[in-house]
Amino acid sequence: MENKKTNRLRTLTEPFKIKVVEPLKVTTEEYREKALATAGYNTFLLSAKDVFIDLLTDSGTGAMSDHQWSAIMLGDESYAGARSWEKLEAVTKDLTGMPYVLPTHQGRAAERILYSTIGGKGKFFISNTHFDTTRANIEFVGSTAIDIVCEEAQDNQSDAPFKGNIDLKKLRALIAEHGKENIAAVIMTVTNNSSGGQPVSMENYKEVRRICDENGLFLVMDGCRVAENSYFIHHREPGYNTKSFREIAQEMFSLSDAFVMSAKKDGLVNMGGLLTLRDSELAVQCKNLLIISEGFATYGGLSGRDMEALAVGLVEVFDEDYLHYRIKSTTYLGEGLRKKGIPVVWPIGGHAVYIDAKELYKNIPLKEYPGQALVCDLYLKGGIRAVEVGSVMFGKYDENGELIPAEKELVRLAIPRRVYTQSHIDYVLDVFDDIIEMRDQKTRGFEITYEPPFLRHFTANFKPL
Ligand SMILES: *Cc1c(COP(=O)(O)O)cnc(C)c1O
Repeated sequence: MENKKTNRLRTLTEPFKIKVVEPLKVTTEEYREKALATAGYNTFLLSAKDVFIDLLTDSGTGAMSDHQWSAIMLGDESYAGARSWEKLEAVTKDLTGMPYVLPTHQGRAAERILYSTIGGKGKFFISNTHFDTTRANIEFVGSTAIDIVCEEAQDNQSDAPFKGNIDLKKLRALIAEHGKENIAAVIMTVTNNSSGGQPVSMENYKEVRRICDENGLFLVMDGCRVAENSYFIHHREPGYNTKSFREIAQEMFSLSDAFVMSAKKDGLVNMGGLLTLRDSELAVQCKNLLIISEGFATYGGLSGRDMEALAVGLVEVFDEDYLHYRIKSTTYLGEGLRKKGIPVVWPIGGHAVYIDAKELYKNIPLKEYPGQALVCDLYLKGGIRAVEVGSVMFGKYDENGELIPAEKELVRLAIPRRVYTQSHIDYVLDVFDDIIEMRDQKTRGFEITYEPPFLRHFTANFKPL
């Protein structure tokens, strides 16, 4: 359908114009050198004002539309039964087809409420890949989270269209091994965030539904990027190119028993979350927890204006022009890097580009964190903030205190929604020319000078070697 639209032929144009601007501070390399040293060479500890292009995360960092901002003025801040809640509830029911809607302050609150209700000691959760807050909420209540992403996902270079899929054979085997009565739920993360933002096919999802039906299992969609996933299905899966993105999402909802959403992604808002359910008894239990910890059932930790903006965002995100620009802009960055010879995880997913730092900075030993070296260089050379997804984040130590590296040394460039323009993305590509120039001379990385016992990537300090 898009080839009929002339503005899509060559230049990737943003389908919006700018009404409000937020100035960016332009800094020098000397300035950034000092800022980085002060931050202990950890980009999480930088002041955001010193960052030029912030690709740390796509979570809650998007720009809202004029319609969302004007909806904010309609916010009804009544404690119970606010108009803004009625709007959000109606939009969510209409989209998901699920009768029970619980608002939460963000995705992990929805996760905690659902997984502490259906989980518990000795229970298993099986997923294509649990997101880290999902895993944490499951393990916190004494359950076990098992990831079984499909085999195609292991190969960073293959063109397989749906590398976010779950491995169906392993799913059947795990059900047989642990017993269906011990499995609290199957969770499908859509798109598969921790596995490169890769999409899940409808065929895979339907098979999961069938296996769940055969075994009486509960199927949850962790669907904070369900609109982006629908775009991939529309373009890559046979039989779906005549269906709208919204219809595709609705087909997936119809196969699910529950939906948890961090609205900070495809909700196109800066804060918010949702839990939707089909089962009335489960909804009552979850609602009790919601009221104890988040807020009354008609606001759940959100203000009326937040709910107004989310009600609009859930509609806007399925706009054909928006989704086209969104996915193409991520792809443009990834393809541009690949053309320059930067090793990227392929194909490019929906919300981020992942760079293989082990391959790019081949001469830096793993115990000197090549991913962290790349993250620091991107900041020094261009004021770009990325995040290491490798041994800083996931590495462990053996009994002699030697690093056991993570499986992969990736660096993620996550793209905020509707924030940066084509020229910002071109600038990021330019900065990589400097990286390419120095990559062969890079032989030393970093050592850790301070680290906390948990989630060390957020607060660790480093020293260049
Ligand atoms: C972001 C995210 C969450 C957690 O949501 P928060 O709003 O950050 O609490 C859960 N699952 C997935 C797949 C996510 O990307």
